[in-house]
Amino acid sequence: MDKGIQAVLAHGQYILGPEVSEFEDALSDFCDADHTVSCANGTDALILPMMAWKIGRGDAVFCPSFTYCATAEAIALKGATPIFVDIDRDTYNMDANSLQAAIDQVVRDGKLRPRAVIIVDLFGQPADYPALLPIAQKAGLKVISDCAQALGCTLHGKGPLEWADVMTTSFFPAKPLGCYGDGGALLTNDVDVAKAALSLRFHGRNTDIPGDHKQVGLNSRLDTLQAAILLVKLSAFADELSLRNKAADYYSDRLRDHVGCVPTVIDGGISSWAQYTIEVDDPSAVQAALKNRGIPSARYYPLPVHRQSAYADLPTAGNGLPNTDAASHRTLSLPIYPDLTTEQQDEVVEGVLAGLQG
Ligand SMILES: *Cc1c(COP(=O)(O)O)cnc(C)c1O
Repeated sequence: MDKGIQAVLAHGQYILGPEVSEFEDALSDFCDADHTVSCANGTDALILPMMAWKIGRGDAVFCPSFTYCATAEAIALKGATPIFVDIDRDTYNMDANSLQAAIDQVVRDGKLRPRAVIIVDLFGQPADYPALLPIAQKAGLKVISDCAQALGCTLHGKGPLEWADVMTTSFFPAKPLGCYGDGGALLTNDVDVAKAALSLRFHGRNTDIPGDHKQVGLNSRLDTLQAAILLVKLSAFADELSLRNKAADYYSDRLRDHVGCVPTVIDGGISSWAQYTIEVDDPSAVQAALKNRGIPSARYYPLPVHRQSAYADLPTAGNGLPNTDAASHRTLSLPIYPDLTTEQQDEVVEGVLAGLQG
């Protein structure tokens, strides 16, 4: 990695240097995608395809509420209206019936045009694309997979692009493939989206006419230094994913009989295990017991997006989002990373059991 960084310092092409396209090609290979367009972060990666499709005011874009706020933020920043959809109670990913209900509601109201759905692969595991896709297609929706937490996840051996028009990801340090700062990318098999995104990430520049900018764009590029770091990290990523899976299996073996709910992965799915998330009656008590032992843990998400100040007035599918609310009260994410040892995991498990006993 030091060598990669030194090479960038030597050539000095800090913006869109050769490492950027080298990394984009490597990521396309890894994800079996025709095109990768890197950008400044995972939020811009969501905004860029919506800009390419000219999604904006008067448009409805469906998304879950049990996600990081950036999913809905990207929609709102485009001037479109996020419509919150409920989750499956076991996998925490978007529920197909709730998506259908949300679409029906928007169509019935007749005020907004249904344009797209952002499906999140939460905590690392693939959503139920085979159930969601026909519903999206019937309604004429573009499909974005927000794979910020789940790069490398598969369902029946295929990545999200098997179903989605565009898949986006984030290289924020805490994501499965993290860099040493901010970074993101969108992947697609649609050459028009890729071309538009290449222009839009560079202020909408027109490569045919020097000095011309053909549309209002963003300044959103992946730093060459980050690309050099990501090239090295990507070469270890497949091994890291299998180590994360081993660690998750070990937690589940030890916790299955004690905790009400260990994570459920969809049939045929392989998770990238960005988070290992359990459910307990009193997550704060378990978190405190872990903290006493010097073990960090995190609550994702105590406030789902539709309960947050900036988003509380937006429409939700049906009569609120009961599964989202129920999950938000009970989830707790335990430490998981590739070089976590079984001894460390045993300590975490002891902390969880101590917390459960009060
Ligand atoms: C982290 C995250 C994002 C945003 O990525 P940034 O790189 O932080 O902008 C979007 N969606 C989800 C689900 C995320 O977890």
